Amino acid sequence: MARERERTPVVDGWFTDDADAPDGFRLLGTRCRSCGSVFFPRQDSHCRNPACGASTLEEIPLSPRGRVWSCTDVRYRPPAPYASDPGRPWEPYTLVAVELAAERMVVLGQAAPGVGVADLPVGAEVEVVPGVLAEDEERVWTTWHWRPVEGGAR
Ligand SMILES: [Zn+2]
Repeated sequence: MARERERTPVVDGWFTDDADAPDGFRLLGTRCRSCGSVFFPRQDSHCRNPACGASTLEEIPLSPRGRVWSCTDVRYRPPAPYASDPGRPWEPYTLVAVELAAERMVVLGQAAPGVGVADLPVGAEVEVVPGVLAEDEERVWTTWHWRPVEGGAR
């Protein structure tokens, strides 16, 4: 019987590790309690707003949907710490920059498998979904992917 491989987030604390969480799969950022600035990647020690500098930040789930700000094909193998098996042929993927209106920020991420630049016109609505970055004998390295919202506004 095949042993169940451990699902391990590629980065700890950047997204929920449970796709069945009550709010669904979400990216996790932090928000400053003083000025309300939101950070992703998360900022835990102090607020980076130069006019603030407070040190109390709380974890918040980011908006599950946003709009394509830009995207591109990635046809080279990024260097470490990017996890990839040099013994395997490189599979190009699509990198998407997604604008989250409520957080007033742009978040990068890979498009879901099979989604290319032609599927991601600027302004198209996308949603965050659980994804797999790489797999080895022991682990399935999990990440987030963006995919077009079915019937989403353009
Ligand atoms: Zn602040």
